[in-house]
Amino acid sequence: MNRIALLILSFSLTLLAASCNDNQAEQRGEGQKLNVVATTTMLRDLVTQIGGEKVKAVGLMGPGIDPHLYKASAGDVNKMQEADLIVYNGMHLEGKMGEIFKNLRDKDKEVVAVGESIDEKKLLASSDYEGSYDPHIWFDLKLWMEATNVVADAFIKIDSDNEDYYTASRDNYMKKLEELEQYVTARSRELEAERRILVTAHDAFNYFGNAYGFEVRGLQGISTAAEAGTQDVSKLADYIVEKQIKAIFVESSVPVKNIQALQEAVEARGFQVQIGGELFSDSTGSAGTEQETLTGTIKHNIDTIVDALK
Ligand SMILES: [Zn+2]
Repeated sequence: MNRIALLILSFSLTLLAASCNDNQAEQRGEGQKLNVVATTTMLRDLVTQIGGEKVKAVGLMGPGIDPHLYKASAGDVNKMQEADLIVYNGMHLEGKMGEIFKNLRDKDKEVVAVGESIDEKKLLASSDYEGSYDPHIWFDLKLWMEATNVVADAFIKIDSDNEDYYTASRDNYMKKLEELEQYVTARSRELEAERRILVTAHDAFNYFGNAYGFEVRGLQGISTAAEAGTQDVSKLADYIVEKQIKAIFVESSVPVKNIQALQEAVEARGFQVQIGGELFSDSTGSAGTEQETLTGTIKHNIDTIVDALK
């Protein structure tokens, strides 16, 4: 294609985008999919589970991306501006995107912060942000069931014609989550209480620990924004030796080097700790794998944890 043709094409695309922005609600006629943007892979999965064929789910972050550090690109902002609904976690999980969500709300976009719709009494406090809560709610399946309700309600609000569809897929997914919760509980109980200690790269697993009876220690805090210091490594290494912990775990969205440093510090104290495998913390697995869905990652995590600590 020559330069002039390219220019004309890009000009007409710009016009098209502008007209879409102006009256997208009217333009989404019968049979048109809802255009929903979700920030994390967990939320994109949830949107897909509830929305099915009625929704075009657009995820901003790919597998293995750390949401605490993620900065939205100009392309991301465009996607959000064109969306019928934007779904994010909130509670500073998307720590560098707060201003963007505020701007979208100011422009009257439909924006839902799933975590911030959950009853505060059920949330754990955050040690990183004063007055805020731990954002890693997907690890307590009961809380994720509430998140499921929040997303289903948001779909029904803007697309009431398909209420029956969303209600049915919500109920279906709830059943899946209930079954998975029974599985996680049963596998946890294979470990004696004193073996249920989970050491990972950052403090993502507090809800998991709370719900399924694990003591949880992360090398970095609730957010990965602050690096672990030598003191953190040294304190945690002492703890591992004291409790004779068999295995520690890396996370798919956090660099491996910190956990390796911890393993070396334990070795220097004359004790051997294994790296028990990779857990999915703030991201699901790659597309096309069993861990592409949240339920797949939770099953992978509990199997990895219990098999390594047994
Ligand atoms: Zn995290």
